[in-house]
Amino acid sequence: MFLSNLKTVRKYVYNYRWTILSGAVALIITDCFGMSIPWLIKNAIDSIPAQKSNSTLFNYSVLIISAAILQGAFRYIWRLGLFGVARRIEYHLRNEYFTHLLKLQQSFYYKNRTGDIISRGTNDLNAVRDLVGPGALIFVDTITLITVSLSLMLYINWKLTLYCLIPMPLLTIVIYYVGDMIERTYEKMQQKLADLTDRVQENITGIRTIQAFRQEENEIRRFSKLSRNYVKYNIFMARVNGIEEPIIFFISGTSMNVLLYFGGLGVMNGTNSLGELVALSGYLMLLAWPLFGLGWLVNMYTRGIASMARIDEVLNTEPEIFDNDQCDRSIEKISGDVEFKGVNFVYPGKTVPALKNISFKIPAGKTLAITGPLGSGKSTICNLIPRFIEAGSGEITIGGHEIKKTPLKILRESIGYVRQEPFLFSDTIIENLRFGDNSADIEKIKRYAEISKISGDIEDFPEKYETMLGERGVTVSGGQKQRLAISRALLKNPKILIFDDTLSAVDTRTEEAILSELNKIMKNVTSIIISHRISSIMNADEIIVLDGGEIIERGSHRELIQNNGLYARTYQKQRLKFELETLE
Ligand code: ADP
Ligand code: MG
Repeated sequence: MFLSNLKTVRKYVYNYRWTILSGAVALIITDCFGMSIPWLIKNAIDSIPAQKSNSTLFNYSVLIISAAILQGAFRYIWRLGLFGVARRIEYHLRNEYFTHLLKLQQSFYYKNRTGDIISRGTNDLNAVRDLVGPGALIFVDTITLITVSLSLMLYINWKLTLYCLIPMPLLTIVIYYVGDMIERTYEKMQQKLADLTDRVQENITGIRTIQAFRQEENEIRRFSKLSRNYVKYNIFMARVNGIEEPIIFFISGTSMNVLLYFGGLGVMNGTNSLGELVALSGYLMLLAWPLFGLGWLVNMYTRGIASMARIDEVLNTEPEIFDNDQCDRSIEKISGDVEFKGVNFVYPGKTVPALKNISFKIPAGKTLAITGPLGSGKSTICNLIPRFIEAGSGEITIGGHEIKKTPLKILRESIGYVRQEPFLFSDTIIENLRFGDNSADIEKIKRYAEISKISGDIEDFPEKYETMLGERGVTVSGGQKQRLAISRALLKNPKILIFDDTLSAVDTRTEEAILSELNKIMKNVTSIIISHRISSIMNADEIIVLDGGEIIERGSHRELIQNNGLYARTYQKQRLKFELETLE
C-alpha cells in the first residue's frame, strides 16, 4: 500500500529495514500488552463471586500493573526506532533534493519559481516524512489493534460484538468522503503556499524597488490577497478535519450504548457475565483510537502521496547538461584555444535566434573582445562556453576538444567567468574569495585582491577580510562587487577568463589600472572581454562587433577604425564625450 507511489524513498526504507522491522515488532508487542489488560480485568471480575481470600485479586493487579509497565517500555522502544528512522529518511531525502537542485541547468530555474522549489523541499518533504514515520506506524498500529481486539471480542462474546459493529458502516463512508476532500484541498493548499512563499521572496529581494516606487501599500494588498487565499483553503481543511472527529465520537459512543444495553440485559438474564461486559467495553475503548487512526491515515496518505509527487517532479527532471556517453574521460587538462564554428542558438520558447552562424578562433593566451548593442547576443556567447546553455547547432571546441565531450568538471574548472552583476554570498570576504580556491591562504588572497584593485577598499572595512557581506554585514557597491568577483575568478587560476561587461561599474581610471595588472598575469590566459567602452577593448587581439546575433564587423582596433562602421562611429562618439568631460 505505502511503497508503490513512494519509489523515491523505497531505497531508504530498505536501508533501515531492520530498524523498521524491530520497531514494528515492538509496536505490536506494545499493543498486545495493552490489549491483555481488559482480558485480565474480565478474569478478575469474573473470579470475584468465587473468592475466599484476596490473594487471587492481588495476583491480578500485579499482572495488570506489569502489563502496563511492559507496555510503556515497549512503547519507548518503537518510538525511538520508528520516529528516528522517519527523521533519517527525511534527512536523506532532503540531501538528495538539494544535490539534485545543484545539478539542474539554468533553464530549470527560469521555468520554476524559487518559492515553489523551496516549498517542495520543506513542506512537501515534511508531509512525506509524516507518511513514512507516523503514517506507517499508525498503519501497523491500526491493523494490529483492530484485528486482535475484534478477534478477542468475537471470542469473548460474538453476539454482543456483532451488535457493537452495527454503526460501523457509517465510518467507512466518512473516511472515504473525507479522504477525497482532503486530497483535493491539499494540492491547492500547497500551490497557494508556494505562491505566498514566492511573493515574500520577491519582495525581500526587490525591497529597494518597492520602496523607491512607493509600492508598499500595493504590495501589502497583493500579499494579503494571497494570504487570504491560503487561509481559505486551510480553514476548509480544518472544517473537513473538524467534521471527522465528532462523527467518529458519535459512532464509538453509539457502539458503547448498544453494548451497555444488550450486555446489561445479558448480565441480568445470565447469558453473559459481568466480566465479559467490562472486557468488551474495554476493547471498544481501545478501538476508538484506531478508528481515529484510520481517518488520520487516509489524511496522511493522501497528503504524503501528493507531496511525494511534487518532489518527484523535481527529482525526475533530468539534468540536460551533464557528462553523457559521448564524454571523453581521458581528457584531464584543456589548453586555452577556443573556437566557435558556425554556432547557432535559440532560447527555448523563442523563435528569433539569439546567435546566428557565429565563428571565431582565439589562440591560447590571446584576447578576444566582443562589443555590440544591448541584446545583440554577447552574454549568450559567454554562457555557451562553460555549457550553462547548450548550442543548437555548430561546434565549440577548447584545446581542440569539443566541449560536449569534455568532462564538465574539467571544463568549468578551467574557466573564470565574471558577470556584470556578480553574486556574492552572505559570508565573509575571505570565504567569498576562497570560492575560487578553497585552500588559498591569506597571503595569496591579498595578492589577488591587489590585482583587481579591491585590497584598499577591503582594508577600510571594519574587520578587513573577515568582514561579513550582504544581509548580515556591509553592503558593497556594484563596482566593489565586480572587483571582488574578478579576484575570485582569478584565484581559480583559469585557462580561460571571461569578463561579461565586468568593469561597467568601475570608473575609467580604476579600469585602466586593473587591465594593466591583468595584462601582466594574462600572458598565458585566453581572455574574452565584453564591454561597451571601446577604451577597454581596443588592445584586444581581435574585436568582434555583434548586432542582432550576427557578427557585423571584425578585426583589430585599427582595421575597424578604417572600416568606418558601427565600431568606428561608437569610438568617435565615446572619444568626443571623454574629451568634453576632461574639458569641464
Ligand atoms: P547581450 O548580452 O548582448 O545584451 P544577450 O546575449 O543577453 O545579449 O541576449 C541576446 C538575446 O537573447 C536577446 O534578444 C535576449 O532577449 C535573449 N535572451 C537572453 N537571455 C534569455 C533567456 N534566458 N531566455 C530567453 N531569451 C533570452
Ligand atoms: Mg549581456
